[in-house]
Amino acid sequence: MIEAWTEELATRVRALRDAALAEPAGSARREAAERTGGLPVYWDAGGSLAITASGEIVEYSPEDDTVAVVRDPGWKRVALVKASERYKELHALRPRDGVRPCDACHGSGKIGPATCARCQGIGWLAV
Ligand SMILES: [Zn+2]
Repeated sequence: MIEAWTEELATRVRALRDAALAEPAGSARREAAERTGGLPVYWDAGGSLAITASGEIVEYSPEDDTVAVVRDPGWKRVALVKASERYKELHALRPRDGVRPCDACHGSGKIGPATCARCQGIGWLAV
């Protein structure tokens, strides 16, 4: 569960999730919201990360149609940073300490057209 999860955050996640569910059929965000029951905060070719109203970070893999709780600290951090960037209502989720700009991509998250492998595209690394 996300540290310092509050009922206020749960309410915001539910509202944003409902908006994602109202998107046109076929959108990656809507599909991830339907399958996880949560709010998609990050997605790439391999799957999606979502935050549920109960404060869990889950991963949806469309290829094998599975939903699993994320245990990896790096991917948890990706979910929190992306959630705070994508949804202003979730700004409080941004990790406040323990991060520094990625030295491989200088904080951009990209190296040329590719996603930076070192920071997984978030532009930040754990200290
Ligand atoms: Zn990087």
